[in-house]
Amino acid sequence: MADQDAAGQELASSSMRCPSCSGGSLRPWGHARTRVLRGLHGARHTLRPRRARCRDCGATHVLLPCHAPPRRADTLQVVMTGLLAHQGGAGARTIAADLGVPVDTVRSWVRSVSAHAQWLRERATRWAFRMDPTHPPMQPTGSPLGDALDALGHAAAATARRVPRPLTAWQLIGLISAGCLLAPVASTLSG
Ligand SMILES: [Zn+2]
Repeated sequence: MADQDAAGQELASSSMRCPSCSGGSLRPWGHARTRVLRGLHGARHTLRPRRARCRDCGATHVLLPCHAPPRRADTLQVVMTGLLAHQGGAGARTIAADLGVPVDTVRSWVRSVSAHAQWLRERATRWAFRMDPTHPPMQPTGSPLGDALDALGHAAAATARRVPRPLTAWQLIGLISAGCLLAPVASTLSG
């Protein structure tokens, strides 16, 4: 989902399916605790995610907007900026200082995304060709992480050309990676 409003509308129309039982419809169930996410340049984004409960199995889920990675303190914009800097050859300490985050956090992004770089690349590549069947083949960058980031960039650009709704590149990448940039097994609905 692109934002909190979209999450609310989708929920209201019961078009979202429960990820626990893969079938039940979700209904609004108040809000989860407020989170504060780190943005670029010291920005702080306050987020009060909606909560939903499954009519069938009773499981509750927190609905996160697509620019907020599950269980992370940073926005996707910050994470992607760090990953692209890493890919560009910057060291973890430099990236950490630039972004104002702990150096271990930067290392954990690189580890986490590298660990499922192929999953991300395949998903983003399929996405890009679905959005633009005439998309030229993607060129190898020399590393699995680089290939994944490159494919995500192509997929986001191809989507932006097709979809008139003004989504930011970071929101697009959240959608394309299904909220799983940092952890492929987690659903965007968990957390
Ligand atoms: Zn359910």
